[in-house]
Amino acid sequence: MNENTYTFDLLTLFPALFDGLRSESLLGKALQSGALDLQTHNWRQWTTDRHNTVDDLPFGGGPGMVLKPDPIVACLRELRPQRDPRTPVVLLSPAGRLFRQDLAEQWAQGPGLILLCGRYEGFDARVEQHVDQVVSIGDYVLNGGEVAAMAIIEAVARLLPGVIGNSASLTEESHSSGLLEHPHYTRPREFEGAAVPEVLLSGNHAEIDRWRRRQSLLRTKLRRPELLQGLTIDKKDRAWLDAEWAQLQTAAAGQGGDRD
Ligand code: SAM
Repeated sequence: MNENTYTFDLLTLFPALFDGLRSESLLGKALQSGALDLQTHNWRQWTTDRHNTVDDLPFGGGPGMVLKPDPIVACLRELRPQRDPRTPVVLLSPAGRLFRQDLAEQWAQGPGLILLCGRYEGFDARVEQHVDQVVSIGDYVLNGGEVAAMAIIEAVARLLPGVIGNSASLTEESHSSGLLEHPHYTRPREFEGAAVPEVLLSGNHAEIDRWRRRQSLLRTKLRRPELLQGLTIDKKDRAWLDAEWAQLQTAAAGQGGDRD
């Protein structure tokens, strides 16, 4: 660890779930190099009763158990003064603001991140008064916040210097430009009758760039059309996209289905 180390603090009842992330792949290497630090805090240790109780029945009735506010807030109170005061404290919840690439980019500016991983029915609502943001990784419900935290760790960590080798690949990826990334191809040139697009073999980099930009537009229009709203698109690219789109619609109508 050094003064540039980016620290992820995970408040979790299941710290062992992060063991794989610690040891594998680029993240494992970044942890070893000191670019990253990943610390788990099992807030059960901050309970004060004989049974180390972290949850209780919901007031007003209903199914499931609710995570008590007292141990998690006690854990946070001990942790926060040990971290840079600018470190965001984020509560993970399917009822939170959606996590997107722009938030990953903002958080990657440092100095670290404190993530609260819920379980059961989630946290007592009063815990929200002790965090900076409530964040969801998508419109679905997981059993716990640990997998959500891992998704956020990967998205943020790969933007940090020293974590991913090729920084050019970061700027070309889906969502970094507001569009989905173009398709990729590698060897063999032909696979089960499907050939690599000729232009990629041409060596003409201007043509390749144009093809990629347009494929990126087309893919976005097909899969995530809402991302195109408000985006400025070059006139020629727009004309190409409209023509390609019309052609696809005609082909789909002929086959009685959609293409994806
Ligand atoms: N009762 C909660 C609701 O309906 O909003 C769901 C609780 S969920 C079963 C348990 C925990 O998993 C949550 O407290 C949260 O930490 C985590 N979790 C589940 N889905 C998530 C998502 N989409 N994004 C972030 N965290 C999530």
